[in-house]
Amino acid sequence: MKTLTGKVILVTGASRGIGAAVALKLADEGAKLIINYAGNKEAAAEIVAKILHNGGEAIALQADVSKSEEVKILFDHGIEHYGKIDVLVNNAGIMITKLIKDTTDEDFTRQFGINVRGPFNTLREAATKLADNGSVINFSSTTTRVMMPTYGTYVASKAAVEQFTRIFAKEVGVRGINVNTVSPGPTNTELFTKGKPQEVIDRLASLNPFNRIGEPEDIARVVAFLASDDAKWINAQNIGANGGMA
Ligand code: NDP
Repeated sequence: MKTLTGKVILVTGASRGIGAAVALKLADEGAKLIINYAGNKEAAAEIVAKILHNGGEAIALQADVSKSEEVKILFDHGIEHYGKIDVLVNNAGIMITKLIKDTTDEDFTRQFGINVRGPFNTLREAATKLADNGSVINFSSTTTRVMMPTYGTYVASKAAVEQFTRIFAKEVGVRGINVNTVSPGPTNTELFTKGKPQEVIDRLASLNPFNRIGEPEDIARVVAFLASDDAKWINAQNIGANGGMA
């Protein structure tokens, strides 16, 4: 039997990048997917079509994770469709990189709105709506382990997510739900590569001993394990998926 057969999994921000690879991998392992997206309807529909083509089950649901009423509807529609949600993958995120002195109020509000309020909104719904014995996988970043100028608000937002994981694990563990963070290193998506010259990408790749950046599928395999019952005893942890960068 596949490792995720029978599980219903909500992946936020699954239209592109790591979230899309995660959704495809989880579906391959037998899970039924809810593909959340913010604005990219066609990309989300393509991921659903790929999963259906491979014999899996998936629906796409639009919701801006920074808006609590949209997140509530996301959970309610997902549960209405499948009858339950077992696993929440809090992948949706953005990255604004600027020196702190150049960061505007709007930058700060947007960074924290999506990266912190987003997971807060989904965790609040998950606290009562996620099925017993489910799992939560939050997304931080290896950038919280290194000190890189211009990453101030981004790592501050991800540090908040890491702390949500620790507290939420203690709050919902009584229902058999385990909660972990995965912290990717530099990974080949638009979020990371956009606007970066190749030499910067190469320099960041050289910070791990395999001397390459991650592919979304590298992260997807880790998430698939954390979503499986085999990972149940891993709880309240922050798993680096970065080739050994930090
Ligand atoms: P991408 O920019 O490639 O994809 C972002 C995804 O998030 C898209 O599906 C997008 O949807 C969705 N999204 C953005 N804003 C919202 C919102 N308000 N509500 C719902 N969905 C939203 O990012 P990555 O795949 O690279 O990043 C995924 C996660 O991994 C993020 O949390 C990021 O911080 C983290 N991470 C990434 C690293 C990297 O190097 N790539 C390294 C470490 C961590 P739409 O298509 O509709 O816009």
